Amino acid sequence: MAKEFIDGIECVPHGYANGISTHLANKQQLDGPRATLTEIEKQRIIKNAAYRFGQFLTELGVRWEDDPNSSETPMRVAKAYVNDLWAGRYEPMDEVTSFPSDGYDGIVFEGNIPVTSMCSHHHQTIQGKVHVAYVPGPEGNVIGLSKLNRIVEHFARRGAIQEQLTVAIHNAISKITQGNIGVAVMIDATHNCVSCRGVKHQGASMKTAKLSGCFLEEDSARAEFYNFVNGYNSK
Ligand SMILES: [Zn+2]
Repeated sequence: MAKEFIDGIECVPHGYANGISTHLANKQQLDGPRATLTEIEKQRIIKNAAYRFGQFLTELGVRWEDDPNSSETPMRVAKAYVNDLWAGRYEPMDEVTSFPSDGYDGIVFEGNIPVTSMCSHHHQTIQGKVHVAYVPGPEGNVIGLSKLNRIVEHFARRGAIQEQLTVAIHNAISKITQGNIGVAVMIDATHNCVSCRGVKHQGASMKTAKLSGCFLEEDSARAEFYNFVNGYNSK
C-alpha cells in the first residue's frame, strides 16, 4: 500500500497502530491537517472501545460486571488508551515554531528524553531514553528545546515498533528544522513484550539509530553525537 503523508509528518497510513486514528484522519480530510476531535467525539470513542473491551474480558471468562475490581476496568482501559497510551493518535502534533539560527551552525543536542510507548505487536509497554540532535546550518532553523520532547511524545504515545518510531521522530525533526545539515535520533529502550511474555528475558534493551546528513557522512559529527550520548550512559 502506498504510504500516506498527512501534513508531511505522518509516515504510516492512518488507521495503523503507529499512525493517527481513522476518526482524526476523517476530520483532517474534511477540515485540514489542524483539525481536532471534539471532547464529545473522544468520549464516544472511549465508550465504544470500553463496550468492546468488556466483551473481550467476557470471552476470557471474566465476570467483570460482578467483580468490584473489574467492573470499571473496560472504561479505565479505554480511557488509558485514548488519553495517555495512544494519545498521539487522537491529536494533531502541536504547532512547532522554528526560528532563524542566526549563524549558529553547531550541534543542537538533547539527551535522555524519557520515552514510553506501546509495542504494536503485543500491546506491551516500551520504555527508555531518546537522544536527538540536529545541526541547523547557516541558513537553517532552530526550535525551542522542549519542542524536541513534544515531538518524541507525539510519536511515542501510539502503537510503535522501535525502528519505525526512530524514523518518525527523525523525519519530524528534519522537516521542522528546515535547512538543517543533519539529524540524528537514537533510542535505547526495553520492551515488556520481551521481558514479560514469549522469551521472558529481563533487562535486554534495544538500540536503534537513524542518522542523516553530516551525522551519516562525517565521522567527526557522528563521533560528537555519540560522545554526547555516551556522556549520559556513563553517569
Ligand atoms: Zn512486542
